[in-house]
Amino acid sequence: MKFGLEDKTAIVAAASHGIGKACAMRLAKEGANVVVCARGQEALVKTTDEISAVTGRQVEWVQTDLSKPEEIDILIDATTVAFGDIDILVTNCGGPKRGEFMTMEDADWKKAYEMVFMSAVRLIRAAIPHMRTRKMGRIVNITSIAVKQPIDRLILSNSFRAGVVGVAKTLARELAPFGITVNNVAPGYTLTNRIYDLAMEEAKERGISHEDVMAEYHRHIPLERMGRPEEIADLVAFLASEHAGYITGTTIPVDGGYHLGLL
Ligand code: NAD
Repeated sequence: MKFGLEDKTAIVAAASHGIGKACAMRLAKEGANVVVCARGQEALVKTTDEISAVTGRQVEWVQTDLSKPEEIDILIDATTVAFGDIDILVTNCGGPKRGEFMTMEDADWKKAYEMVFMSAVRLIRAAIPHMRTRKMGRIVNITSIAVKQPIDRLILSNSFRAGVVGVAKTLARELAPFGITVNNVAPGYTLTNRIYDLAMEEAKERGISHEDVMAEYHRHIPLERMGRPEEIADLVAFLASEHAGYITGTTIPVDGGYHLGLL
């Protein structure tokens, strides 16, 4: 199936590793011009070189700390300088600190708010003018299955990702007259550095092995395995494609059946 993404321009946030990187690779494979960002230059260079080598597409990187508003502005400006316009925005971010409610101080809440919630708000706000004038655009937010079923000891993620869904659902209506769709993808347990680190922290806390924690995660997933970042990217690419023009305001899990709710 052709996705109609040839020569479209996509920004993928937090994309030097993991889910973001897989999304950037997938969009480039579909022929899009891709701009990736993250904080570390070395990983960005490695990732862009890899994506260019695999896809033959021009891939640009912008060193960006997503919790800093001025760096988001630079990312957007650099994209328009490199490619002229923005057709697709994939918001994504580093995962917030793990822990239960009573372990979090104001500083933790503020940091997670800037990283998870405000980075999505600022990226979307800066991208909209470039989409609205052309009466087309695709915004896809990487959230978490936590927006449908809170995950224990991830109070910050559970709280602020729900806020992103609130923004997206509202924006889907505001932006529909401009041909811009807004959707959320909700990954379940996905094999990346993030899940490795979370399992490592939990293993230390409980005095059990990393393998035991990972095995416990698996037991809660009907498909009995974790997702691959590429499986999240497949849905992101579809939502960014011309085939998804009538889908907006949705939150779609990619979780191996983990979420237990009916809707
Ligand atoms: P990852 O650790 O593999 O990748 C995170 C990316 O974010 C990296 O490229 C990193 O450089 C970048 N990053 C971190 N802090 C940043 C900052 N301040 N500014 C810019 N970039 C920054 O993680 P992942 O698993 O790909 O997760 C991506 C997002 O999806 C996270 O928010 C995570 O919490 C969420 N998520 C992950 C899972 C999972 O199981 N892996 C499940 C649900 C949601």
